[in-house]
Amino acid sequence: MFDLACQEPPDMTDSLSAFTARHIGPRDHDVADMLSTIGLSSLDELASAAVPDAIRSADALDIEAAPSEHVVVKELRGIADRNKVLTSMIGLGYYGTIVPPVIARNVLENPAWYTAYTPYQPEISQGRLEALLNFQTVVTDLTGLDLAGSSLLDEATAAAEAMTLMRRVSKAPAGAVLLVDEAVFPQTLGVIRTRAVPLGLPVVVADLGGVDDVDALRAAAGDQDVFGVIVQYPDGAGRLRDHRALAAAAHEHGALVTAAADLLALTLATPPGEWGADIAVGTSQRFGVPMGFGGPHAGYMSVHSGLERNLPGRLVGVSVDEVGARAYRLALQTREQHIRREKATSNICTAQVLLAVMASMYAVYHGPRGLEAIATVVHSHAIALADALRAGGVEVGDEPFFDTLTVHVPGRADAVVDAALKQGVNLWRANADTVLISVDETTDEADLAAVATAFGVNRPVVTLAAPAWDTDLQRTSEYLTHPVFNSHHSETAMLRYLRRLADRDFALDRGMIPLGSCTMKLNATTEMLAVTWPEFSNLHPFVPADQTRGSREIVEQLSAWLCEVTGYDAVSLQPNAGSQGEFAGLLAIAAYHRANGDTERNVMLIPSSAHGTNAASAVMAGMKVIVVKTDSITGNVDMDDLKAKVEDHREHLAGIMVTYPSTHGVYEATITDLCAMVHDAGGQVYVDGANLNALMGLARPGRFGADVSHLNLHKTFCIPHGGGGPGVGPVAVRAHLAPHLPNHPLDAEAGPESGVGPVSAAPFGSASILPISWAYVRLMGGAGLKRSTEIAVLNANYIAARLREHYPVLYTGNRDLVAHECILDVRGITKDTGVTVDDVAKRLIDYGFHAPTMSFPVAGTLMVEPTESEDKGELDRFCDAMIAIKGEIDQVAAGTVEAADSVLRHAPHTAESLTQEWTASYDRAAAVFPPGVDPTAKYWAPVRRIDGAFGDRNLVCSCPPPEAFES
Ligand SMILES: *Cc1c(COP(=O)(O)O)cnc(C)c1O
Repeated sequence: MFDLACQEPPDMTDSLSAFTARHIGPRDHDVADMLSTIGLSSLDELASAAVPDAIRSADALDIEAAPSEHVVVKELRGIADRNKVLTSMIGLGYYGTIVPPVIARNVLENPAWYTAYTPYQPEISQGRLEALLNFQTVVTDLTGLDLAGSSLLDEATAAAEAMTLMRRVSKAPAGAVLLVDEAVFPQTLGVIRTRAVPLGLPVVVADLGGVDDVDALRAAAGDQDVFGVIVQYPDGAGRLRDHRALAAAAHEHGALVTAAADLLALTLATPPGEWGADIAVGTSQRFGVPMGFGGPHAGYMSVHSGLERNLPGRLVGVSVDEVGARAYRLALQTREQHIRREKATSNICTAQVLLAVMASMYAVYHGPRGLEAIATVVHSHAIALADALRAGGVEVGDEPFFDTLTVHVPGRADAVVDAALKQGVNLWRANADTVLISVDETTDEADLAAVATAFGVNRPVVTLAAPAWDTDLQRTSEYLTHPVFNSHHSETAMLRYLRRLADRDFALDRGMIPLGSCTMKLNATTEMLAVTWPEFSNLHPFVPADQTRGSREIVEQLSAWLCEVTGYDAVSLQPNAGSQGEFAGLLAIAAYHRANGDTERNVMLIPSSAHGTNAASAVMAGMKVIVVKTDSITGNVDMDDLKAKVEDHREHLAGIMVTYPSTHGVYEATITDLCAMVHDAGGQVYVDGANLNALMGLARPGRFGADVSHLNLHKTFCIPHGGGGPGVGPVAVRAHLAPHLPNHPLDAEAGPESGVGPVSAAPFGSASILPISWAYVRLMGGAGLKRSTEIAVLNANYIAARLREHYPVLYTGNRDLVAHECILDVRGITKDTGVTVDDVAKRLIDYGFHAPTMSFPVAGTLMVEPTESEDKGELDRFCDAMIAIKGEIDQVAAGTVEAADSVLRHAPHTAESLTQEWTASYDRAAAVFPPGVDPTAKYWAPVRRIDGAFGDRNLVCSCPPPEAFES
């Protein structure tokens, strides 16, 4: 057999896998050219010169590469076959859902959506910003509250965020408790407890069913003050309870109320905002996002107005551009974590944008009537099942329900669950006497018949019925009345809406996204394939472990490979973003000190250049942040300041959190001294591993002195950014911290018994996207990973070498080399000419590029990370554009044009701008077709430069009313 996929591509025929040459951009002859531009003769020489000897790995990575992409797909098929996909009627926040195929193919499987970056450059992100605004509108309308953010990580972490929000806002005295209803989902309670411990927030769990005045509230809290109340709606036993009296009592007492609410139920049930909840949280999973063995899907949070400045995560808002046209952008950006740092109230950064887009599109596709119809069918199926069970003499809880039944089978729960399993259905064993059954959109009469058989009762007879609940529980208010939810109901219209939005955005499928720190590399199609296979996507996270052997094998093998790459001993894949990995790692450090009797060690040293999430996570982990200076000339950690601070805090030192290579893109030679200094003082070393793309195969943090790191699989390991999520942020530790990794109340295999509790709702976090990273490592092998690091470093140094004479490269290491990214300093230009980093970034859009990272980690600079996947042609196109822009700047410098009138200040230019009276001092053609732009392949920004301040003064965070479209 002649297998085309096994043929070697022309390059890199040495020890590297065939795929390596597909993943890596530059061809062999380009590599030679680029090395000579830098003044080096080989990749080895580059690595030896750039990476300090003290940290270089002596041995190669012991990971074998697969022979071809074709073979990897076959291997994945074999693994998938070890998963057993049954019908799951377990509920607990995860439900079967039908992904409309037009959304599956055109969003989830479409690189225009999944390879986009977080919409920090709003002019090239209008499509996904509109989709996220739709998401916010879905959430605010359904929950009956005023404002929603554009996604949180999952329901459980959203509930934990609600806890801290309530604590900040409530005037209840210190020591007041969080009161949680006992019927909140167990994983939600688990995450709340994990988060509450380091903050010293007491959590009291009680049955809040009968609480209707302040005395009863205080009594439920064990006669303590209460700052916040959390209920599940409908609750974990399926009961739809009227919480008006509880909410009134809480408010009278000075506490806030959070409802963890099911969005589908809210199409029929009175929304939380109407019965007095201040905050609603939950998941949008059942809006067309597969269960995926636990994730990813978008969590949500909505609040009543007045709380918007306390919302964690990102908020999309409406503003105007330079010519007054409506435009979207992220609102209230001052709350973003990189600015708040140790004052941050939440560490969330990467969220779940792709999944929020899917959920919003599910609502666009079905519209309010379609959603109501789905909910009505679900509810009718549940009624039919309840009737059949009761008719057969089985006791079903008699409180109102939406989709979940509590069935009492004294002493027989195990037998019933087993009998259902034999029928191919997973039910939930709540305890020895109680079984829970959740009906969802996918449930059909055959499933109901199978359940009936398990209970030994007659087949249910389904008749469509509106809820017969007490009127107080029935929804009367309208929702999703905006045209966007009432216009795209034919597939043609839906397809075109998705295409129209995608076309407004610049993603990796159009060109390079040279973002420092974010590693926007290739997301290979082969890596993506398995994500939508039903064997990975249709698993409920709480099914018996023998149904998920394949997924668990992916978890184990990927964990082992990550240990090999990092030199650590154990990994938890549960954290569903880098920020969550940081939090888990810091909890491990805290638990380790506590286990050693060092209860006073709570100081975390963090260099001033650190990513904002670092300090925010440390605060969440209950630590005191002490900032260590960085040297203003070299950008490195100031070792004298470090020494002084280690001395000052010796008794209380928990550890240090450093990024390596640094956020300045430099391999600091002092890293081993730094580790030793902190260890000598009894502290632990946390190395932020988001920059692992500069280390893989060259150095291992677990061997050069660090104790713990998080990695970002959505950076280094090819999970796409999805427009700002999903993410996977594994935490990797040395053996002494392994007993303190996360675990999970519903899955004994998900972590050590001695662990710190869950940090995500699902045992293995965003499990359904792990095959992406698994496939990447398997395709590259150890040698391929090392080569990818070398080329990432080569590409960055090539850009630095080409641009250095036009824009100073801010920080460098040995022999003027950078690591995998470089900082271009625009501050001198700004001082001399008034042209700002914004001007350069927006002008790059006219040249057909996404801007680099702006003003992080140093204000007034641009940070560029090309990654190994960009080829020399694209790097040259970028450098040429930057040099041409420097030419435009030089005209301002020469006094030929004012900065305010320049083509730079007025960038980007839309197609529409050409049709309007042209008053600019520069030429139209120069504006839109600068050198290097092929007119037949031009990316047109849909809006001019956006006025962010206007939008913050006039905050609008849901779909603007139709009148707003008129102008
Ligand atoms: C991206 C990044 C993080 C945060 O990761 P998220 O997945 O966005 O939470 C932390 N540190 C560094 C250095 C990063 O680049």
